[in-house]
Amino acid sequence: PPSNTLPLRTTRSTCPYCGVGCGVLIDSVSERIVGVRGDPDHPANRGRLCTKGSTLHHTADPAVAAQVRLLQPMRRDRRGSAPQPLRWDQALDWAANRLAEIVCRHGPDAVGFYISGQLLTEDYYVFNKLAKGLLGTNNIDTNSRLCMSSAVAAYKLTLGADAPPACYADIDHAHCLFIAGSNTAWAHPVLFRRIETAKARRPEMRIIVADPRRTDTASLADLYLPLQPGTDVMLFHGLLHIMLTEGWVDSTYIEQHTTGFTELRQLVQSYTPAAVAQVCGLSPDNLYTAARWFAGVPDGKPATSLPSAQRLPTLSLYCQGLNQSSSGTDKNACLINLHLACGQIGRPGAGPFSLTGQPNAMGGREVGGLANLLSAHRDLSNPAHRAEMAALWQLLPGTDLPALPGKTAVEMFEAAADGQIKALWIACTNPAQSMPDQATVRRALQRAELVIVQEAFATSATCDWADLLLPATTWGEKEGTVTNSERCISRVRAAVPPPRAADGTGPRHDWRIVVDLARRLEQRLPRRSHGTLFPYDNPQAIWNEHRESTRGRDLDITGLSYTILETAPQQWPFPEGRSTGTPRLYEDGRFPTADGRARFVASPYRPPAEDRSARYPYAMTTGRLRDQWHGMSRTGTLGTLFGHIPEPQLWMHPQDMAESGLKPGQLVRVQSARGSLVLPAHPSHELHRRQCFVPMHWGSEHIGGRSDEGTALAGVNGLTTSAFCPQAKQPELKHTAVRIDPVYLP
Ligand code: SF4
Repeated sequence: PPSNTLPLRTTRSTCPYCGVGCGVLIDSVSERIVGVRGDPDHPANRGRLCTKGSTLHHTADPAVAAQVRLLQPMRRDRRGSAPQPLRWDQALDWAANRLAEIVCRHGPDAVGFYISGQLLTEDYYVFNKLAKGLLGTNNIDTNSRLCMSSAVAAYKLTLGADAPPACYADIDHAHCLFIAGSNTAWAHPVLFRRIETAKARRPEMRIIVADPRRTDTASLADLYLPLQPGTDVMLFHGLLHIMLTEGWVDSTYIEQHTTGFTELRQLVQSYTPAAVAQVCGLSPDNLYTAARWFAGVPDGKPATSLPSAQRLPTLSLYCQGLNQSSSGTDKNACLINLHLACGQIGRPGAGPFSLTGQPNAMGGREVGGLANLLSAHRDLSNPAHRAEMAALWQLLPGTDLPALPGKTAVEMFEAAADGQIKALWIACTNPAQSMPDQATVRRALQRAELVIVQEAFATSATCDWADLLLPATTWGEKEGTVTNSERCISRVRAAVPPPRAADGTGPRHDWRIVVDLARRLEQRLPRRSHGTLFPYDNPQAIWNEHRESTRGRDLDITGLSYTILETAPQQWPFPEGRSTGTPRLYEDGRFPTADGRARFVASPYRPPAEDRSARYPYAMTTGRLRDQWHGMSRTGTLGTLFGHIPEPQLWMHPQDMAESGLKPGQLVRVQSARGSLVLPAHPSHELHRRQCFVPMHWGSEHIGGRSDEGTALAGVNGLTTSAFCPQAKQPELKHTAVRIDPVYLP
């Protein structure tokens, strides 16, 4: 340990785990991180940290880093061989030559970029510019597709822009919290502490939790709705049906601020309490109670068309239970329908509020780092938007940005498996574990001519497929910005320099790797701009260009600067001339649509893509544990974080276990149409009959799973389906039909 006579330095930064976006104070001594504290001045957490955040300094310990970090660029001559170190200039030249060759031979759409909601906004921006501006392909997507694209699609469809209208402070004002498909207690722990505090201060606040699993979050609920998996749209339409029948909708708000209600009213006529109760597995009485609380009709008030100003405010918090679904956009939109129908939006304590899973999924959306978007919430399909970005990027006259959407996450790996995509550049994410239907993903990684993996951790399973490994810096070493769930932009700051390899080389910042490689590509590909598209020497220069791209857009941050962010995080929009950000949107009842009105969406209920059957009688959901993060690159290095749940396991209802003759801890084979996995089974009263849960964190290096073809698979995603929402292209990770059989050991 460093000497205690050396000065302690404190660096203000942001937690790299979940979308709550807590501020952290990093204590370092002599270029070594020795402690992490919650930042008492950060509005997201006011000094609090969860188990993951408060152990961050241990994950940055040099002894841990020596075991898990990539320190030098490495190249393989052929797949399966041991990678050999090379210098950065050799690695970048080799990558540029190979990429240029593939682009010249097959066109720019033969390249796919798969990036990450863990990247900083500046990293995201240059990746997006490289793909769309320099190469001319929209084949760039992100692991955020797996966590929030349904929320994005639904916000745009209903409210006109991808902008969560509420903020964390609304929890302190809400009279009803409607938590749907979110185990906030585990996935967003510091936010849950805030909910607990609000409930303790105001016991009259009503909390409804709608979730097939009776999670820790449900333990706080005044009303728990254990709906059958995948039936959320049915539930939301059923609640609207009751609100209409009882006269609880806000007719004035609907008339003045929305369109499309007539069609929706007609649709929900058949979603009677009896029909909804049967499909969702809920009691009509509970539906009635939930509808009344949500509508915000105070006890004793006449139950007819109460104006929104007299209603008790309702805030919805929702996450992957709605998003990770083949009808994810519909689920989000139909919940937003309820807010619009009751005028529960644009007031303190009221509004639909999607929680982002990752620390910078929001920043990636802001810079348009997805296959269907352009910078600053512009649309690829809009010629004017493409022209604006071509002008900002100073592309040569007549050089248009590609108009057709690129391949989204699942489509990208399917295209690589089919041989359409020849080169994959993967940054800061581990698709060989986290993507659904691993057999296809691994065929894609095997078949691609070139796989570049830009990564901080050598433990990522995807590294095994890399022709070229580019070592990246990580939390504690990087500079830039992230945006959390409530549109709040925070600075990420370097507390220590990155580790060095024995020969003095070391990881580079993600933005730097992209810029260094992009400049080489500019020399090898036909020119699309007058000068370099990548004139940046630091992340601030990139961020300033991103800021300019937002001018006049719904997320305008032209009034913001790194200097302002030095003093405090800020919520967008923050246009020029303003001195503060914007906590809450749509307070004036105007929406960023062509006519200024929000739009109701009348989508009928559809069951999950892969329903339970006689052969596969259980509905399996996957999800987070409280103390682990994603594929455990970071959290898996700390023994203390295994104290909560020490091993991969399957949870199921005790009666299902008893009927199958299973004892607690007994090994079972969980099998879907795509593969199987052997795990210990444990009884859990969180689960209802014919449902089971498997954590998402363990990969093939931890548990043995094999596909029918005998390929080693990566944990639970060897089983999951790649079926996705047709609008959002978000895969259905929350519903896989499986069978569970005992494994009898010899
Ligand atoms: Fe980090 Fe999320 Fe925990 Fe906050 S709640 S400390 S952002 S993991």
